[in-house]
Amino acid sequence: MAVFRTLEDMGDVRGKRVLVRSELNTPIEHGAVSDTYRIEKAVPTLKWLSGRGARVIVMAHLGRNPSDSLKPVYAVLSTLIPHAQFVADVVGEEAQSAVMGLEDGEVLLLENLRSHPGEKENNPEFAKILASYADYYVDDAFGNAHRADASMVSVPALIPSFAGLCMEQELTELKKGLTPESPSLFILGGAKFETKEALLEAILPRYDTVYIGGALANDFLKAQGFEVGQSLISENAEKAGALLVSGKLLFPKDVLVKNKNGTETKHVEEVGVEDTIVDIGPESITELCERIQGAKCVLWNGPMGLFEEGYVESTKQIVEHIANADGYSIVGGGDTVAAIRELKLEDKMGFLSTGGGAMLDYLVDGKLPGVEALESAPTRS
Ligand code: ADP
Ligand code: MG
Repeated sequence: MAVFRTLEDMGDVRGKRVLVRSELNTPIEHGAVSDTYRIEKAVPTLKWLSGRGARVIVMAHLGRNPSDSLKPVYAVLSTLIPHAQFVADVVGEEAQSAVMGLEDGEVLLLENLRSHPGEKENNPEFAKILASYADYYVDDAFGNAHRADASMVSVPALIPSFAGLCMEQELTELKKGLTPESPSLFILGGAKFETKEALLEAILPRYDTVYIGGALANDFLKAQGFEVGQSLISENAEKAGALLVSGKLLFPKDVLVKNKNGTETKHVEEVGVEDTIVDIGPESITELCERIQGAKCVLWNGPMGLFEEGYVESTKQIVEHIANADGYSIVGGGDTVAAIRELKLEDKMGFLSTGGGAMLDYLVDGKLPGVEALESAPTRS
């Protein structure tokens, strides 16, 4: 990995304007933030800078709709950083005058970067205006580092750039997952095989065992000729069969199904056309937990069950065992982290990544456009 500079390398920041790209993309329900994890993880860098007298400009995106406002995020941020300011503009006059009005130690959040098409288009003019706001750029948005957006890759080409605390921690921790110590265990659940196929192919040669659960297991069970009834299947599930030859994949032997009688545990060969698989079964949980106990490195992405509907037994047990195991653990994925936080179990875990897609992409080959931009950034403006 090439080297990038960190906050410690910035020198005296008092009176300097620092543009921070934070990851504040959080779920919003009924107009309010429903999970504050990413906001909490963004705060240390902002406090580090403002505490040293920098004038901090925060830029971030929210959701996929350009009209989504960061106001609900600001409502949370301002409880964590009192006196933080917000301007409902990105590159217009209002934003520019708010930036110019900043005093030492003040923090200003700009509106959703995606409210301007220049962000996703990686427009150089848009990047130029953003870069003109500040003396330094800090990239703390690991969760967005797999996207070559203007704020991620073009701004760091224009002004001296540094990695924020969250970014630095993510890369330090996830690097350990690239070359795991043996015996290593990769637990892959969740849904949508098409989004996990590349990772699975890349990880198979590097990990000793890969345990497949969640809806993803349905694709593999189907590929092996088992009936999966009404269970969720991925779009390109037929491709799953090709990965079976590795001999490293493990699947649940029993599952929890729901059907007209309620829920019941079945061995995978007993699943019928009316059944919907909603979690892995007790025998499988026990086997998986034994493997967790014996592993030096556990990497986990994707819930084993349909946790939103309350099928959380597997997730609870896995967390408990990871917490009590001696090995190193890395857990990531938007839904996986949400499930753990809903159960209030996050303090028991090793490293919880703020990245979903970014973590999956990073683990394929240790490269991300946002990180490469930081590594090749100019050292002087
Ligand atoms: P992450 O965001 O952590 O990477 P994914 O997005 O891949 O995870 O998958 C999470 C989704 O998978 C959740 O909505 C969860 O309910 C679903 N899921 C897990 N197991 C099953 C299952 N057996 N049937 C249907 N959905 C499942
Ligand atoms: Mg997800």
